[in-house]
Amino acid sequence: MTLSINCKDAGDPTCSHTISGETEQELFDNAKKHALEEHGITAAEFEEDVKKNEEKYRSLIKKT
Ligand SMILES: [Zn+2]
Repeated sequence: MTLSINCKDAGDPTCSHTISGETEQELFDNAKKHALEEHGITAAEFEEDVKKNEEKYRSLIKKT
């Protein structure tokens, strides 16, 4: 099973990159890497955002 989440669905106005992973942890790590590299946010900001919007992000995960 592959878990994926789209940046645009997660609220980014321009980036339509799809992040995927085999597990929730892998998806989280890949999303973090993408956010840091492409969106210029810090790891602390990313983790805080995920903590605050966990339910929303979880509901956006597609399983294929
Ligand atoms: Zn993005």
